[in-house]
Amino acid sequence: MAEKSEEKETMPEVGAVVDGEVLRFWEPEPAASPPEHPCPGCTVREDTAWHAGIDGGQCFKCGQLYCGVCAKAAEKARALKELLPPCVVCKAKVGETADEDFSRLIGLLTDTDRLDTRQVSAAKCNLAYMYANGAGTSKPDHNEAARLYSEAAAEGDDPRAQTNLGFMHEHGKGVGQSYSEAARLYGAAVVKGYANAEFNLGLLHEDGLGVDQSYCEALRLYTLAAEQGDAKAQSNLGVLYMEGCGGIEQNLDQALRYYKLAAEQAFPNAQCNLGSMYAAGEGVDADPEEACRLYRLAAANGHAEAQFSLGCMYANGTGVDQNYSTASRIFVSARDLGYAGATDALHSLYPLLFAVGVAVKVVGLAKAPQLNGQHGIVWTSAAAPGRLSVLLSGAEKPVAIRGENLMLKQPDVKVEYVV
Ligand SMILES: [Zn+2]
Ligand SMILES: [Zn+2]
Repeated sequence: MAEKSEEKETMPEVGAVVDGEVLRFWEPEPAASPPEHPCPGCTVREDTAWHAGIDGGQCFKCGQLYCGVCAKAAEKARALKELLPPCVVCKAKVGETADEDFSRLIGLLTDTDRLDTRQVSAAKCNLAYMYANGAGTSKPDHNEAARLYSEAAAEGDDPRAQTNLGFMHEHGKGVGQSYSEAARLYGAAVVKGYANAEFNLGLLHEDGLGVDQSYCEALRLYTLAAEQGDAKAQSNLGVLYMEGCGGIEQNLDQALRYYKLAAEQAFPNAQCNLGSMYAAGEGVDADPEEACRLYRLAAANGHAEAQFSLGCMYANGTGVDQNYSTASRIFVSARDLGYAGATDALHSLYPLLFAVGVAVKVVGLAKAPQLNGQHGIVWTSAAAPGRLSVLLSGAEKPVAIRGENLMLKQPDVKVEYVV
C-alpha cells in the first residue's frame, strides 16, 4: 500500500522508460479545478470515455477509464509497437491484436461486479464498435452492436453509445431506419457536449432529415463541435460561411479560419476548399503555389475534386510548371473516382497531347491486346476531321484507338488516356 501512494506522488517524467516501456507520453496543463474522477494516466482530466468530444480510452483487462488525451497517446504508442504503455492500474500491457481486445472485452463483461456503471457502458460501447466493424469477429454483426449500444445508452446514459446507436438508426443498420430516432439520440448526447453528436445532428438539420431544415441550427451545432476541435464540423462550418446560405451571412474570414483549422488536421475537403480560396484570391490574397500545395495534399488523400483542380493547375501552368502529361494522369485518377468534369477535361487535353504526325506506342489495350507494343503515327482523315486515329506501321488501314492507353514515343512520357 505504501508503495502505491508513493507512486502517485512522484509521477514519472514524460518519456521516462521503465523496463522498456514509456510510462508517460504528454505533460498535462494544471487543472483549474480537480476532476471528479481523475484519469490515472495524467491525474488532471476526467477518466471518462468521452471527454470534451474526444473519445476516451479503457483498459480492456481491468476496465479502468482514461481521458481522451491519454488514450490518444496510448494509441500512438501502440502504432509504434515497441513502446506499449501498461495500464497504470492493473499493469496489463495494451492488447496487440483485435482478437486480444475482443476476448478481453468479453471477459470484462462476464464479470461486471467490480466495475462501475460508466466502465460497464464504456466496455459495451467498445465491444459494440468491434461487432459493428467486424474487428475481432469473423464478420460485422450489426444486430449485436445495436443491442450493446442500446444497453449502454439506456443504463449508462452514455453519449458515445447514444451517438453510435443514433448513427445505426440513421443508416438502418441492426435497427429500423429512422431519422427522427437518430435525431432524438443525437440530441441526448448533444446535451452532454459530445462533439460527434453535435456534428451528426448538425448534418440532419442541414438536410432537414428527421428534424426541421435549418442552416442556422446546423451552424450552431457545427460551431459547438468545431470549437472542440472536430475537423468534420470545422470543414462544414467553412462551407456554410463561404456560401452564406439560409439566413447565414457570407463571412470569408470565418470560412478561411475554419478551413485552416480543419486543413491543419489533414481533412481533405477543407484542404481542397482552402486551396480554392487561395486559387481564386477569395477572402485571402491569391496564392497559386499555396493552392497547388493544398490541392496536392487533398489529392493524395483521394479527394476527387482536389485532383481535378490540381489537374487544371498543371494544364494551365498556374502555380506549377505547365505539364499536360501530368495533368492527364491526374484527370484520369479524378475520372476513375467518378468526378464528372474530369472526362471533358481529358478530351480537351487530347489535341494538346497528340498532334497529327506524333509517333506513339500502344500500351495496355485490353480489347485488342495483339496491338500492344506496336508503333504508329497519329493520323486524321478528311472524312472525320478532329477525330484522331493511329496509323500503325505496316497496317493498310488506320486503327482507331479510343479510351485506352497509348504511350508517346518520347523518353519517359507516359500518357494514360486518349479519347
Ligand atoms: Zn489522462
Ligand atoms: Zn488495467
